[in-house]
Amino acid sequence: MLQPVQYIAVQAADGEVVGYVWADYQAGTLQWAQRTATGVAGYRLGEEWSGKVAEVRKRGLPLAGALTELARSAGTGPPVDASGPEAVDELARIVTETDDRRLLAQLDHGNAEAWRELADAYAALTDDDRNVRWGGGRKDANGVTQWPYPMYSKPLWRVVAALWGVGAVTPEYRWTAGPAPTVPSDGRLHPADAVRAATLLAVGERVSEGTVDEAVQSGLFDAMVVALLDCHAAQAHLVCRFCGGFPAVPVAFHAHRGLLIAMRFRKQEGPMCANCGLGVFRALTTQTLWQGWWSPFSLFFFAPLTLVRNLVTVGKVKKLETPEPGRHGRQIDPGAPIHRRPLAYVALVPVLWVLFMSVTGLASGS
Ligand SMILES: [Zn+2]
Repeated sequence: MLQPVQYIAVQAADGEVVGYVWADYQAGTLQWAQRTATGVAGYRLGEEWSGKVAEVRKRGLPLAGALTELARSAGTGPPVDASGPEAVDELARIVTETDDRRLLAQLDHGNAEAWRELADAYAALTDDDRNVRWGGGRKDANGVTQWPYPMYSKPLWRVVAALWGVGAVTPEYRWTAGPAPTVPSDGRLHPADAVRAATLLAVGERVSEGTVDEAVQSGLFDAMVVALLDCHAAQAHLVCRFCGGFPAVPVAFHAHRGLLIAMRFRKQEGPMCANCGLGVFRALTTQTLWQGWWSPFSLFFFAPLTLVRNLVTVGKVKKLETPEPGRHGRQIDPGAPIHRRPLAYVALVPVLWVLFMSVTGLASGS
């Protein structure tokens, strides 16, 4: 006995399922169900299939025969049984990892300027910008009631405009078909959902005014920008281990402490931004300058070596631009330069001592 519904999956050349042809034997219908998450290419192929289905239907073949005939086309397989129309509906709403990857591939990580603009625009937002006011809704002099409309502030609109620059607004997300992004309970939006949200806001606002306001109030707006900036940071740069800012470079700074009978080595390593890197350099170098000398090995070998290594390393950190505003946590305060730290001058003691010894040695030799 036939199941109430049978379907065939239709694949694009790359293996992506673009939709389903399905026969409902009880209702006597043959239909095309486009998978909602497909991009532009998948949607075009779906339109072709929608046409094929309409054509076969017109010829008035029995449903099972029509489905079998379509199942002979390239990119399809034999008909599969399903429990009902809802089962096909559910299949059509599936979002795959390939769908997410296709959206993430639209982000233009090479365009540093556009990402900086997004970060700057977002950092400049105030609570007042988030409190969107609405105009209209009242009768004007001619007795015409104007439809209410949102009055977005310039800074808020600047963020929306910046979404285009980074490639987050894309036809590859068909926002009218869904799936609509929602903010999970932990507030962290998947970056692919951030691209969906960006497209929905930037394009959807033109069709349905107030879309951006709704997203600001629901938290989708903030979650979207944060997810996009985080995604870019992970893709394009290393992130500072102390403050999460970028750009950052992987570095290691050392401190050395020479004791009469023992020596201690300290190390701080990981990606560091310009500010935190400089702070760690100054702290560990100053520590070495006052604690580094107090054993013979330390004096002639480890302390100088540590100082030179730190000097070379700090060059890498100093070459970095300062971290993008608004995108980092608490940073290490670089503090005073080393030459303004009194403890650093303890290093003069062993230097003077060496000088004293060689001068007295020379004197006694002469
Ligand atoms: Zn940092």
